[in-house]
Amino acid sequence: MKVTLSKYAGFCDGVNRAYEKVREIALDPRVKKPIFVLGSLVHNNDVIKKIEKLGVKKIDFNGSISEVVDKLNGEIGTLVITAHGIGPKIFEIAKEKGINVVDTTCPKVIKAQRLAKIFFGRGYQLVIVGEEKHKEVQGIYRWADKKAQIISSVEDVENLDIKDNQKIAVVSQTTQNKDFVDRVTEKIIARYPEAEILDTVCLTTKNRQEEVAQLARENDLVFVVGSAESSNSNRLWEIAKNINNNTHFIERLADIKEEWLENIECVGITGGASSPQWVIKDVVKYLERLN
Ligand code: SF4
Repeated sequence: MKVTLSKYAGFCDGVNRAYEKVREIALDPRVKKPIFVLGSLVHNNDVIKKIEKLGVKKIDFNGSISEVVDKLNGEIGTLVITAHGIGPKIFEIAKEKGINVVDTTCPKVIKAQRLAKIFFGRGYQLVIVGEEKHKEVQGIYRWADKKAQIISSVEDVENLDIKDNQKIAVVSQTTQNKDFVDRVTEKIIARYPEAEILDTVCLTTKNRQEEVAQLARENDLVFVVGSAESSNSNRLWEIAKNINNNTHFIERLADIKEEWLENIECVGITGGASSPQWVIKDVVKYLERLN
């Protein structure tokens, strides 16, 4: 069996940076303990278990700052902000309560947040293209003082409620499908020709998406390694599945069903930005041994 591994599979720079930072502070006696991560550091259970073993705990977070405020009243030494980022309020609250904050927001997400803040401050109506409930989108929304309109489909453009003379700026969730964002922004421009389109799709995401399309075209079967919670892994699966119906979403090696591999000669493998290299390697090794 021929096995082709995506050169972009596995942790992206932003996730790797967050993961390494958390490992570093967990082992550093100078960092205030206990350490809590606000939400999932990475949408991957194996990674979460690894950092739990280092004594790092998770605070469940669904975007509601008021819930977090209550939890912050407990014994928190250090609070980690994940690569997905968060709104500005949490930094203020943590400061008031004397909680040490370690911010691992990905620089590309910070760019989207800052653009949201700047354009909102200049009087623009901000439009965010992304999944409304996603943590990154919720963070960007808060940097525009919760006044942004969020759209998640081309059809949603019809529902935008914007006055004729209002200036518009559009940002997108960094992990959105670039083609989808292009289709949405084309429709926005058709309706509001003066809209400012701010390119915030992460290049890592774009490269992965282009490559998975190629893997889907060139292989009998494609495995996308990721967690069901991972937005970018789901996008990869959608892209590959549209091209090659023999595409399977797996979280780890144990999810592979032997019957999927009957009469298969070549397999393409990719993984989302939150899929650790060690999980992807297990899958590659297993398939290579079938030769
Ligand atoms: S996918 Fe891109 S924007 Fe998101 S964390 Fe990774 S590098 Fe940053």
